[in-house]
Amino acid sequence: MSALERQLAHDLADLEAQGLHRALRRVSEVAGTRVVVDGRPLINFAANDYLALGAHPALRSAALRAVNEFGAGSGAARLLSGSLSPHHELEQALADLKGAAAALTFSSGYAAAIGTVGALVGKGDVVILDRLVHACLVDAARLSGATLRVFKHNDLNRLEELLRWAVPRARRATVVITESVFSMDGDFAPLREIVELKDRHGAWLLVDEAHATGLFGARGEGRAGELGIADRIEVQMGTLGKALGAAGGFIAGSRPLVDWLVNRARSFVFSTAPPPAQAAAARAAVALIQAPTGVELRRRLWERVAQIRPSLGLPEAAPASAILPLILGPEMEAVRLADALRARGLFVPAIRYPTVARGQARLRISLSAAHTGEQIEQLTTALAELRPLP
Ligand SMILES: *Cc1c(COP(=O)(O)O)cnc(C)c1O
Repeated sequence: MSALERQLAHDLADLEAQGLHRALRRVSEVAGTRVVVDGRPLINFAANDYLALGAHPALRSAALRAVNEFGAGSGAARLLSGSLSPHHELEQALADLKGAAAALTFSSGYAAAIGTVGALVGKGDVVILDRLVHACLVDAARLSGATLRVFKHNDLNRLEELLRWAVPRARRATVVITESVFSMDGDFAPLREIVELKDRHGAWLLVDEAHATGLFGARGEGRAGELGIADRIEVQMGTLGKALGAAGGFIAGSRPLVDWLVNRARSFVFSTAPPPAQAAAARAAVALIQAPTGVELRRRLWERVAQIRPSLGLPEAAPASAILPLILGPEMEAVRLADALRARGLFVPAIRYPTVARGQARLRISLSAAHTGEQIEQLTTALAELRPLP
């Protein structure tokens, strides 16, 4: 064994002892919510494909058409020869969906966050983050070189204190970063109030709608559109890999914002353009979520969410997202329960540090419009037997 192997074997054993070791599982078949994982058929409660669009015929055929027309790859970065028609069509559709002047796509939501925050702020600026924002936004803020401040989850008083402190100090800008629907808790940010606050203090706002785009608003435009405040949010961010069933990330906002990112977002400039099939599939999804299909898929999804909530001790009718956390605390407990569910044919992931704080381990149930009532019932029955509510 080399010194590197010895060191890493030791570190991995350490993770194992803390219940924090993670490994890949091979998914060999996918048929809607039925998947085969490491050779075992399971019902999938671990996907973010909330509207089951990933397998939709419109996305499949859009991807195939793009492969036939443009090939498998884009051939270059966007600023060279890789800026293909499917990218431009997708960006126009995203700008329309988000009520913005322009939009720009990236290879992933992660890349969108890293490139965008880094292009907007630097040393001497201030970034103010909700404590529960996604890791990509934390990494983006750290890498930007700006001064970071974190406020307690959804705590408007603390946010206002930080704004009062930050804005007069910042060299060029103070940016507030939050999500509209939080990725591990499935709860909402008080977006209207945050918009008021940042306007009053003269800061910019980035809202990540990774878990809201496609699901909220009459056309699936997300929470900002639903609340009628999209034009007051400087930077609207999203992913194409969740409810939109494809892959990639995007930013929507003003024309100068997008022009600036084209010039300065390093994860955009120095990276090969996403494959044309990916852009074309996402474009088809953006059309579907605004059509009657989208309305019907959302109706089905919310019906399933209402069905499962009581069994998790949550009121059926309260405002809900498609992410349902069952918070257990100890890492080992979450792993034990996830294993027991898998033995019954149910794939529900145990979420642990570093995705959530230590001692906040949980099962994260994500529902899709493709789940049947019987599949939900199987899960609620198993949960009741394995872990009766107090
Ligand atoms: C998944 C996720 C991302 C990252 O998007 P990808 O396209 O998967 O890279 C960003 N923000 C939030 C809140 C997410 O849940």
